[in-house]
Amino acid sequence: MELRCQYQSYAWGKCGSDSIVATLIKPSNPNIILDEKTPYAELWMGTHSNGPSFLKDENKSLDEYLKENNHTLGSTVIEKFGIQLPFLFKILSVNKALSIQVHPNKKEAEELHKTQPNIYKDSNHKPELAIALTPFEALCGFRPISEIKSYLIAIPELCDIIGEEEILELTIVTEGSLNISLKKCFQKLMTCDENVVAQQLKKFIERISSLGQLTRQTLHANLLERLYNDYPGDVGCFGIYFFNYITLQPGEAMYLGANEPHAYLSGDCIECMACSDNVVRAGLTPKLKDTKILINMLSYKCEPSSAKRFQPLREDDCTEVFRPPVPDFAVTRITIPAGRASYTLIERAVGSILIIVNGKAEITFSTTKVLNRGSVIFIPANERVNMKVLCGCHPMLMFQAFANV
Ligand SMILES: [Zn+2]
Repeated sequence: MELRCQYQSYAWGKCGSDSIVATLIKPSNPNIILDEKTPYAELWMGTHSNGPSFLKDENKSLDEYLKENNHTLGSTVIEKFGIQLPFLFKILSVNKALSIQVHPNKKEAEELHKTQPNIYKDSNHKPELAIALTPFEALCGFRPISEIKSYLIAIPELCDIIGEEEILELTIVTEGSLNISLKKCFQKLMTCDENVVAQQLKKFIERISSLGQLTRQTLHANLLERLYNDYPGDVGCFGIYFFNYITLQPGEAMYLGANEPHAYLSGDCIECMACSDNVVRAGLTPKLKDTKILINMLSYKCEPSSAKRFQPLREDDCTEVFRPPVPDFAVTRITIPAGRASYTLIERAVGSILIIVNGKAEITFSTTKVLNRGSVIFIPANERVNMKVLCGCHPMLMFQAFANV
């Protein structure tokens, strides 16, 4: 079943043909005229009501199809989640930062949805996995405490906001009370008067421009200036001194469980998440900031950026699988090397969605279909799919998402 998928043009997306999302939409939708000024931020593959996918050859949504043909989901999915696809599969093309955010766990999501249903529209958790397609920059998790301390020493403009007492407490902190002291410092920053933050940021930006190259590098001056340019005066600009700054190379991944602070900064990635839209934001965004909830929800665990990378398991010579510790989804990265004539996908007991990112192949179900870059298909549970590679001069690259049950 080939799918017709929708895209979202959020303001932070890459524009026109710079966007991988746009270049993936184009081949399978020849009628679309790409506009070089429009941001093509996200491609959505799944059944989420804000951008459901349709069967390409019929005017039927994937959701309707699954309800009518529930065996295609696989019995283990139905037992665990009912008759629905439990994940949302996406491609993101990020031009500028998209909000410092955190996602609730299941219990918190239920509570938020109950008390503020207009903001938190569903009651589901939203763990997510990002796999880089191009060098992908992000902030994630709190830095090791030694790094945070050294930034506080080097940046009096930030110390002034947080206050002497809290900083002193953080410098003499023991392992056991680290969480509480760090939370106090972070809370002081995030709840500080907006005008004061804007003033301190301006001071710091002016000072940093005159510093030597080495100090600028240590203080991530280029990154700070870039964020400041996109979100002038936003408290999130100081976030880079609290959170790990990480650049994933193509094929590398990052898993973000509940309560883990993060922000995507730039690049293109594959993303998979539980089917939810629950985001609590607190910086680098023009959207609603729910600072108080975010502060209380965050995990204040300090870890180096290396701990944030998520490793796949190899399944065969072409396929590696990323299996996060949640039942909602897993993602495989499938690479068929140049020159190889065919490959049979590993059979799954659950329904899956597959997207071709590079290459061209022929598959045979009831009919023969040619799949190109950007083709998206739904593969029913327990289906064996053989692919005949049509253009073997470059490796073929595909990603497949399915429930992790
Ligand atoms: Zn997120």
